[in-house]
Order: sequence, then C-alpha cells, then structure tokens
Amino acid sequence: MPIRVGINGYGTIGKRVADAVAKQSDMTVVGVTKTRPSFEARAAVDKGYPLYLAGSATRAEFESAGLPVAGPLDDLLGRVDVVVDCAPEKLGKENAKRYRDLGVRAVFQGGEKSDVAEASFNALANYDACRGKRTLRVVSCNTTGIVRAAALLRPHWGVEAWEATLVRRAADPAETKRGPINGILPSFQVPSHHGPDARTIYPDLPISTTALIVPTTLMHVHVNHVRLARPPAGAAEVVAAFRAAPRFHVFAGWERVEGTPQAMEYARGRGLGFPDLMENVLWEDGIHLDGADLRFFQAIHQESIVVPENVDAVRAIAAPTISGASSIETTDRALGLRRA
Ligand code: NAD
Repeated sequence: MPIRVGINGYGTIGKRVADAVAKQSDMTVVGVTKTRPSFEARAAVDKGYPLYLAGSATRAEFESAGLPVAGPLDDLLGRVDVVVDCAPEKLGKENAKRYRDLGVRAVFQGGEKSDVAEASFNALANYDACRGKRTLRVVSCNTTGIVRAAALLRPHWGVEAWEATLVRRAADPAETKRGPINGILPSFQVPSHHGPDARTIYPDLPISTTALIVPTTLMHVHVNHVRLARPPAGAAEVVAAFRAAPRFHVFAGWERVEGTPQAMEYARGRGLGFPDLMENVLWEDGIHLDGADLRFFQAIHQESIVVPENVDAVRAIAAPTISGASSIETTDRALGLRRA
C-alpha cells in the first residue's frame, strides 16, 4: 500500500511537494487544498490532484470557475496517512490542532515555531532519530542549507566555530508585494534566527548567523567561515566531500557559473519539472582552506531546497522501518537528483 499523502496549502512549497510525492513509487497524492480559485488551483486539477477546500473556500466559487471539488479539508484528512502542511507561516500552528483532533500525522514547514511538532527535521542530519514520530517540522530553507552543510562538515573535520552571513532574497519570483526592489536591508537581530533554528537539530552547533536582505528573487547566498577542529590538508578534500555527498551541487570553474543567475538558468534547463535546484549549491572556486579556517559560499534555492526533506519526513513518519540513507537515495532518484 503506498503512503497516502495530502497537501494542505498548494502554494510555492505545496505544489512542489505534491509533484515530488507523486514521483515516489511508495507514495500517492490523495489531494491538495486551495482557499480560492487561481492558476495554481487550475494546475492542480490539470495534474490530476483532487482539489479540497481549505480556509473559507466555498465549493460554489470553484465550481463556477469550472474547477471540480472533491470535498472539504476534513474529508481529505480522513483519507490520508500523513498531511504535509504548506499553509502560510503561522497558520500551520492553527491547523495542527485540527490534525491532532482527527489523529492525523503531519509534516510542518519552517515558518512555524519548532514547538509545532515533536522534532525539527533534516534528512541528512537527524532522519533516524525522527523515525516513527507523529509530527515533524522541516526547518526553513536557509536553516536546511546550514544544517546540511553541518551534517557534512561535522563528521569529516569537526566544527569549532562557524560565522555565517546570509544574503537573503527579497521575494519569491511570483510574489509582488514583498521587497525591497532597491536597497540592502541589514537585520539588526544578531544573531539572526537561523543559527538558533539550526540548533533545534544540532543543539551544540557553534554557529552564529547574521542576515541582510537584497533585491533579488534568485536564491539566498551564505558566506561561511568555519573553524575546523581537524582540518584536511587542502581545499580539494573539501570539494571532493561536497561533490560526493547527496544534496550538494558543486559548480566547477570551467562551468562559468558566476553567481545565482547562471545557477538558476542551469536549473531551468535541467528538466526536473519546476526549474528548481534542490541541492545546496557551491562553487569549487569559492571553497578556500587556510589552515583550520574553511571559507565557502553556498546558494540556496528558497522555493525548492526543502522539497526532498518533506518527502523524507513523510517516509520517516509513515514507514519507520526504512533507514535515512535508504529514504534519501529513493527520494533523490525519483526526483532526478542522483547523477550516477
Ligand atoms: P505560499 O503563500 O506560496 O503558499 C501558501 C498556500 O497556502 C497558498 O496557496 C494559500 O492560498 C494557501 N492557504 C492560505 N490559507 C490557508 C489555510 N488556512 N489552509 C491551507 N492553505 C492555506 O507560501 P509558501 O512560500 O509556500 O510557504 C509555506 C510554508 O513554507 C511557510 O511556513 C513558509 O515559511 C515555508 N517556506 C517557504 C519558503 C519559500 O521561500 N517560499 C521556503 C521554505 C519554507
């Protein structure tokens, strides 16, 4: 029996999670929810995902737009093994009460506080500790990027100290009401919330983060300075480790990827469905080792980096006999992220 999955909230993250779940041979999309008719609702219907009603949505509104409705949210919740909550941030906490009342297991997103679920989740970092939980929270896009890098650096060379400056995108490409469209906005909350959020997964991670927002929609970029406990002989070893690990993509110098525009152009031509880059993106030429001091840039595609983690979180909840390594491999193969 495939794991029956519902997606509550079919926006930037939800529509990607639905497609990723649909590609898994051990999962099926039972339905998705929308609060009002839109191009996204039409796309869901075109893809064959049954459409359920969330929030104050009315059946009449959808039917007058020619969009068939399968039922209200509670009907969807009655038909699934796991619901992936992809509603706007803070609404997940409200929805959590409903899931609890109906006894439905749930995956939440990073826009919620960590207490929304039994544990914060990242597949590379703590999958096996999360097997069999009833609720998990996939940490935010930036935190996912940090925690994946930590999952690689810690066992290889140890992390004594880590300073990260997060250059954050102002808005997602389809968002018209966010900014700035000009100017650079430093965040005066120091550390930014990302370091403490990473410690919901690695409580002893010695990281401090600062953040600023810049007018772009094409990815976040992290500027990392890590003091390694047991440094390797040279940066080439670090490059090789990032290349060998799942969910990292290292561009070589000869690829002439100057920054996020070419990285996203690569994603657009890659043919994985949405023009997405679900891996941490690194540049070989941007990885520098000076004694124990490792400096590297990584770019994070905010709209998609959490997608494979959501698939794994569903499996960790609903199929707890499967190991993290096996789930990661299955997910990535189905998504086309495995190159070998
Ligand atoms: P979004 O606004 O693009 O999509 C949210 C969807 O939920 C919309 O389709 C909206 O109509 C729908 N919705 C509204 N009210 C609802 C309700 N009561 N019940 C169910 N659905 C409802 O938002 P998003 O960017 O996809 O963010 C979803 C979550 O993912 C948030 O917690 C966010 O912090 C997190 N997240 C977002 C990004 C990103 O860059 N966009 C990255 C990582 C994590």
